[in-house]
Parts: sequence; structure tokens; C-alpha cells
Amino acid sequence: MKSSQDGEFTHGELRNFDNIKLNPSSGVLNYGQGLYEGLKASRKREEGGLLLFRVEENAMRMKMGADRMFMPSPSLDQFIHAVKLTVLANKRWVPPHGKGSLYVRPLLIGSGPILGLAPSPEYMFLVYASPVGNYFKEGLAPINLLVADKTHRAMPGGTGGVKTICNYAPVLKAQMQAKSKGFSDVLFLDAVNNKYLEEASSCNIFIVKGNVISTPATNGTILPGITRKSIIEIASDLGYQVEERLVPVEELSDADEVFCTGTAVVVAPVASISYNDKRYTFKTGKETVSKRLYNTLTAIQMGLVQDNKGWTLEI
Ligand code: PMP
Repeated sequence: MKSSQDGEFTHGELRNFDNIKLNPSSGVLNYGQGLYEGLKASRKREEGGLLLFRVEENAMRMKMGADRMFMPSPSLDQFIHAVKLTVLANKRWVPPHGKGSLYVRPLLIGSGPILGLAPSPEYMFLVYASPVGNYFKEGLAPINLLVADKTHRAMPGGTGGVKTICNYAPVLKAQMQAKSKGFSDVLFLDAVNNKYLEEASSCNIFIVKGNVISTPATNGTILPGITRKSIIEIASDLGYQVEERLVPVEELSDADEVFCTGTAVVVAPVASISYNDKRYTFKTGKETVSKRLYNTLTAIQMGLVQDNKGWTLEI
């Protein structure tokens, strides 16, 4: 689908996966005008029908991001229609129930030519998909995080709260350094105080202490994850006290459990976090809050229980 800066997106078409042509002076290549989304389609057990999880939330987050990046965005209907069309065209690639899912990647880019710094004169919205299994090489086993000591992911007033492509290249060095030392991912602190937990490179973080589950508040520097939002609701339903607030890194020393959430990682238990010279360890295993939340969330996502929340869309 294409649009001008002020225009509406025209209805698009289904095409075979292939390279796209871009002008060398396009807005996305030169000035980073780009946004993406990520969601999953899962296969139900008996009937084999396909379920999309909270696709309207992705559509709304893209709209919010487009506003921040000064880009037009497809309407909610156009977004959902394009996702459905892509998933149905790739139905045979959706793994069997319980064996993974089809990851769907909507992408919005400034595709028109622009030499001086200015918004792109044209935009392209496209959706592609790929089957996926577990995100971390650990599979569903607990992960180990390293707190970044020199790098920050986002500044107040910046773009940390939207899913622009510009947020991802700057985390690669810290992420690869953490991986080369044997960690699963890097965990960022806030850029102003270097003190409060923000998020990992592609997932949100929660800490558990007794019946209280805390997660950094979304104040514009962390991505408002759709899994995060769902887990907050599920945890409250299950009777936990959920707090969205500033979470100082020192609280790790006292936490019972830590877990990360995201479309790709789902609910990933954290075994340890290394920060300066300290290594904090946390409870993992079957009898944990994170396992209970994982089971409740994935049961809805895979259609194993009645979806009373209207989070899934069967196609
Ligand atoms: N934070 C970042 C930086 C991410 O890239 C993602 C993945 N989209 C998340 C958090 C988790 O968001 P969601 O639950 O919507 O996938």
C-alpha cells in the first residue's frame, strides 16, 4: 500500500515475497523514517483455525508511532486487513499447534526521494511473515541478562516509546557484547539517572516480590509492550498487586523472581542479572509466578481456553 505525506493509503495487493525497490535518497534509507510491528498467528488445537493475538493493539501502536515520526499511517481496518491477507496466504507455513507460530511483521517506511532533511514525499506499508520457534537459544529455559553500563536505549522526549526502526541499531553493540560474554540479552537503565530499570533489547521486564509484581512505567522511554499490557491484566485478575512505577536497579537484590515479556519471548523467566560486579539470582521453575502467567497467557493465545477478553481474532 502506498500513500503521500498527507494522503490516505490506497488498497494494496498480495505479492510473492521478493526484494522491494527503493530510491537511494528515500526517507527511510537516509533519515530513518520507518516503523515496524510484530505479532503472531497461532494454530488452534482441534479445528486447526488460526488465531491472531490483539492485532488492533499493533494497529494502534503503529498509528501512535507514525504520529511521532511524522508519517501517515494505514487505518486500523487497512492494517488488520493486510495482516489477515498475509497470514491466510501463508497458512501452510503456520507451524502445527504448540510447535511455534507464524511471526507477522508489518512495516511502514518513507519510500519517496528526499535529499535535504524533510519528511519523505511517499510512504509504503507492507506486511511479511515467517514461521518462528523460541526466541532465545535457551528455548523456554531461564535467561541471563547483563545490565548495560555505558549504553542507553532512549532519552526522555526521544523515540523510545514508539516502535521506530531507529531504536534498534543503537542497541546492537551492547546486545552483541552481552552475547559474546555468554548472556542472553542486555538490560538497559534509564539515561537520566542511570538507576531505574527500563527494558531489554526487545522485551519488557517485571520483578516479583511476594504478591507484588512491579514493572517500569511507560513514560515515553520504554516500549508499551502488548504482552506487557496483557500480563498486567492477567496478573491483576489472578490476584497479584501490579505496580507500574520507577523500579530502581537495587531492587533486584531483593526480588523473588524476574521475567521478561514480548511477542517474541512471550514470558521468559530470568535466572540471573549481572550489574557492575554483582550477580543477582532469582527463582525459576514450575512453581513460579512467571510460569503461571506464561501458562495463562499462552492458553488464550493458542485457543486452549475461552477468550473472555476478546484478545484473539480467529481467521
Ligand atoms: N520492548 C522492545 C524494545 C521491543 O522491541 C518489544 C517487542 N515489540 C517489546 C518491548 C515487547 O513488546 P510486545 O509485547 O508488544 O511485543
